Amino acid sequence: MHVVPLHAHNPGPFTGKGNWTYLILAGETTLIDAGVGKPEHLDALAAALDDAQALGLSGRLDRVLVTHAHSDHIAGVGAIAERWPEASFHKFLWPERDPAFHDPGWRPLVDDQVVAAGNVGLWTMHTPGHAPDHVVFLEPRSGTLFGGDLVVNGSSVVIPASGFGSMSAYLRSLHRVLDLQPRRILPAHGTPIDNPAALLRNYIRHRLQRERQVVDYLSTHEPTTAHGIAADIYRGVSETLIKAAADSVLAHLVKLEEDGRAERLPDSDTWRLR
Ligand SMILES: [Zn+2]
Repeated sequence: MHVVPLHAHNPGPFTGKGNWTYLILAGETTLIDAGVGKPEHLDALAAALDDAQALGLSGRLDRVLVTHAHSDHIAGVGAIAERWPEASFHKFLWPERDPAFHDPGWRPLVDDQVVAAGNVGLWTMHTPGHAPDHVVFLEPRSGTLFGGDLVVNGSSVVIPASGFGSMSAYLRSLHRVLDLQPRRILPAHGTPIDNPAALLRNYIRHRLQRERQVVDYLSTHEPTTAHGIAADIYRGVSETLIKAAADSVLAHLVKLEEDGRAERLPDSDTWRLR
């Protein structure tokens, strides 16, 4: 298996320097994530397929696997389907969100499914939390995990409580991937992760620290909103950042509610410990 990283050329406030997509050459050609359809991305994909043809591969694009239906991963599907009509398109279905994007005739992925990709098998794992349809793909022989937005080197991943994120599911997903002992993670944002176990453990520790911070706060203050907690914990930062932090605090509060440790006061956004 040979992996060609292809940048999606979509830097921005929500994508940082932009997304990485990965072309897997393994007898057949498989693209992980679709980017947003920028001509530079499509041309780089075409050039990589030409190079593959020079090495004796078919030079066609066989399939595209999408990690989740956030626009920086899926919006390019229409442009790719137009240029490579022979490709098949696969994702874990999210019926409420998928119709917002071009439908290339999705082939549904399910948890634990092995996708045959030429002479390798890509083991699909449903890893919700960041998004309900999020999946990662493990190539077991090399131990390479295509991680989507599960983790990012040197940063944290947004769990959007108001956008279908789930902290409980996310922590379960992190543990599940940790148990697989991948040798490296190729993420959709940032640099490759060569120490997955250490990074995943840090992620879990960091989230549990945040949870403790929220519990400590509620145990020493009157019932308040996620925004109230975020504004106090992150005092002095801009309102935009506080709003983002409040969404993350809310994700923790919902998890604490699921764990039976916090509750929302009736008909309000105000929270207290149970
Ligand atoms: Zn995402």
